[in-house]
Order: sequence, then structure tokens, then C-alpha cells
Amino acid sequence: MSAAIVRIVSELRSIVAAWRREGLRIAVVPTMGALHEGHLSLVRSALAKADRVIVTLFINPMQFNNAADLAAYPRTEHDDAAKLATVGAHILYAPNAADMYPPGFATSVSVSGVSDGLCGTFRPGHFDGVATVVTKLLLQTGADLAFFGEKDFQQLHVVRQLVRDLDIPIEIIAGPTVREADGLAMSSRNARLSLAERNKAPRLAEILVQTARQLSSRESVVRALTVAREAILAAGFSRVEYLELRADSNLAPMLTLDRPARLLVAAWLGETRLIDNVEVALPRAEALHQAAA
Ligand code: AMP
Repeated sequence: MSAAIVRIVSELRSIVAAWRREGLRIAVVPTMGALHEGHLSLVRSALAKADRVIVTLFINPMQFNNAADLAAYPRTEHDDAAKLATVGAHILYAPNAADMYPPGFATSVSVSGVSDGLCGTFRPGHFDGVATVVTKLLLQTGADLAFFGEKDFQQLHVVRQLVRDLDIPIEIIAGPTVREADGLAMSSRNARLSLAERNKAPRLAEILVQTARQLSSRESVVRALTVAREAILAAGFSRVEYLELRADSNLAPMLTLDRPARLLVAAWLGETRLIDNVEVALPRAEALHQAAA
């Protein structure tokens, strides 16, 4: 059975209300479409935990700080609906921008702290756009559970923070980053890579994994990040926007590996900006010490 496409919030609300009367548990998976296995893995996790799954497809103009990026973003709603039908999502909610942001729309959700630095520095206004649209989508769907990917690790923190701060009654569940066979993190933007760029792209994840291993073997953070930055450029990336070690729990900057951490990167390959992140395990002795504490 194919997923029903719903565009109007009042229609969505009446379907959700009927599900509620039946006592069903409802999950939402927000996306911008051009669905790949990363999105579908979130949908499968949602189906495992809920009775009904709503996938939202909205290319949110408010979170694009660059008009060319917005114009070039892939739009494949027909294929997306077919993919969702094969995994068994119940509704594809694809509202129009004019309905999401009607004339006179004047509210913005801004999350400080976790939105600062990393992508927040290089994409001004991006996380206000994300926080505003995610707040709207969570309230419009009224779901019990919402699924987000670790691929967008800073976004995950922004969403967790706004849900906590605004008392939105929903549980946020994170899914691991799904990768191509060669390690490249799946992304709707990968389709923009030329063949030559696509061949270089997996080096980014390889370098992250290698650097994470060195950090876990007590290599100095500054030295490991300097070497990694050079390796990314040597692999053919034109620019490294950031490469940073941050605390897993709250994204605080880290200069020594004394807590569970993430290594996060944004780098340009030609005209395409790629982001990725990996977990950095504590050195063995510290991990044992923290487990015992
Ligand atoms: P997007 O359509 O890129 O806005 O992503 C929608 C959701 O899918 C977000 O929660 C992303 O973090 C998640 N996502 C995107 N790519 C991946 C991936 N490769 N693995 C896991 N989740 C992903």
C-alpha cells in the first residue's frame, strides 16, 4: 500500500486525531526528501517503535542561507513516495512553503549554545530555520516519537534542546549514520558530486575514523587535528570549514580527550559541502575509570 500524501495541516490533524482515538502510538521522521537509505533506516526504526509513521518532506527555505543551494536541492517527491511505500510508512506529509510561512509569519525559534560554532558559524541563520521548522512539524504532527540522524549531529543537539526548553511532549530518538560501502556518509547532496569528486569523497570518513583512533591512542588533540586537516586538503578537498573535537553530551569544545567525544567536520569538494562526524572512544584506562565511577 502506498503512503497517503497529505499537504494540509488540518487534514493531517484529523487523521492523527483518529489514530489517537484508537490508542495508536505515532512517530514522525522529518526530511527534506531525495530519500536514501539513511532516511529509510530512520523510517524502519520508527516503524519498529510506533504503530503509525508520518514522514515529512519539506525543503525548508528558512534554513538555507544560500539561494543557489536551495535552488539546486534535489526534488524527487514521486520517487520518495514510492520508496516510502516499499518500507511501509503511513503518511507522507509534504506541505507547501506558502502554507508553512504565510504572509505575516513572524516567529522564529532560536536555540543558543548548541547552535553556536561548527555549522552555526558557517551557515548564519541555518539553525534558527531548522529549529523553527522542526518546532512547527513536531506540533503539527503531535507525534509521540521523532527520529533524527546522527549524520547531522549538531542539528540533533539543537532539536533535543528545543524540545526540552519548550516542553514539547515528544521523545527524540537518534539513528546512526548510514554510509555507502566505501564509507561516504549518505547525503542528498552526494548526487551533486562529479565522478572524480565522488571517488575522492570517501577519504573524508576514512580520515575521520583514522584520527578518532589516534585520539583514542592518546595522540595530542591539536596535533591530530592539524595532521587530519592537511590530509583532507591533500585528498582533493578545496576547503575545510571546521574540524573539531566536541563533547558528545553537549558539544562543548574539547582540547583533551577526557569525556566521550565526537569529531565533526565540514569540508568542500568542488561546489559541494560535505559534513560528517564520528564517535571518539575514550582511551581504555579512562573508559574503565569512568565506568567504575
Ligand atoms: P535531510 O533530508 O538531509 O534533512 O535529513 C533528514 C533526516 O535524515 C535528518 O534527521 C538527518 O540527520 C537524517 N539523515 C540524513 N542522512 C543520513 C544518513 N546518512 N544516515 C542517517 N541519517 C541521515
